[in-house]
Amino acid sequence: MASSLPDKIIRQEILALSAYHVPPAENMIKLDAMENPYRLPSFLSEEISRITADVSINRYPDPYTTALRKTLKGALSIPSDMEIMLGNGSDEIIQIILLATAKPGAKLLTVEPGFAMFKMIATFAHMEYVGVPLKPDFSLDLDMMLDAIASHQPAVIFLAYPNNPSGNLFDTYTLEKIIAASPGLVVIDEAYHPFAGKSFMNKLADYPNLLVMRTLSKLGLAGLRLGFVAGRQEWLSHLEKLRLPYNINVITQLVATKIMQHYDVLQQQAESVKQTRTQLCHFLGKIGDIEVYPSDANFVLFRIDNAGQIFRQLQQRGVLIKNLDNSHPLLKNCLRVTVGTPEENDYFCSTLQDLIAGN
Ligand SMILES: *Cc1c(COP(=O)(O)O)cnc(C)c1O
Repeated sequence: MASSLPDKIIRQEILALSAYHVPPAENMIKLDAMENPYRLPSFLSEEISRITADVSINRYPDPYTTALRKTLKGALSIPSDMEIMLGNGSDEIIQIILLATAKPGAKLLTVEPGFAMFKMIATFAHMEYVGVPLKPDFSLDLDMMLDAIASHQPAVIFLAYPNNPSGNLFDTYTLEKIIAASPGLVVIDEAYHPFAGKSFMNKLADYPNLLVMRTLSKLGLAGLRLGFVAGRQEWLSHLEKLRLPYNINVITQLVATKIMQHYDVLQQQAESVKQTRTQLCHFLGKIGDIEVYPSDANFVLFRIDNAGQIFRQLQQRGVLIKNLDNSHPLLKNCLRVTVGTPEENDYFCSTLQDLIAGN
């Protein structure tokens, strides 16, 4: 059969992609997507009901997101000499950065295993992709990184700090060497900052080629879709040109501004998540034949025999986590579980224990 019109018209790299798969999660204990398991306190959700009831959804939102940016800069202590640009999730920020830098032959460099969207969006933007393997303990291989930077001269380097899916923070000294050696832009993706306690935000002033990206998704506002990048005006003024007008909708602007005025609520929830993470790591560490990787994020990576089977059995018992077996050679038999509430955590742990005992 002759190839169909879409096959003829759509770019070859896009035809070759498979769409990002999100498994069904209805009635499941959802520990697959690094969401905050806690709801907002009622004083805040009631206030949100009140303010959203009055919103003019017949009008376009503030194109400059003035109130929200001001609140974010204050709540998150963004250095006063730096600017921020907001995106519909930080995924949109990645897209904007790559669209802006994708000259013919330009390369994006990142580490593997790493965040899947860096490679996906590089393909969307027609950018060449270079993935440098991490060491088996998921730390950065500085020599290999410096060699790859020297030979590929990447326009952009993306590094998640802490890294997803491994959960660890990279060594600061090693990262600074990489930033200093890079001929192009380096974006530190701090999606898991609320659980890590370390940041490159205060190093923006030291490196003219550095940007720092954050998101509110893992903090508890995944449904609002809001991320941002912080950096020098000389970078952001150009990136702003690619931001589609009104990319942050009116409800997100209003609700995120209100919630960020009560940032302490989200911070306390993140503290609870960190406590549960400690319990989870302790539990997994006690089980023989499980290798647990230390986490500075709101999820834990572990290696277990027959990971694929354990994953499916957990699913049958109503617990959805992430199966990373076969996604990268360093992730053989690895599973990733998001830290939930203490109750979800207990259920996950006891179910896992049952399965191991029964197999
Ligand atoms: C979840 C995640 C993001 C994307 O977050 P959104 O703001 O929800 O688009 C970005 N980077 C990393 C490393 C992530 O894990």
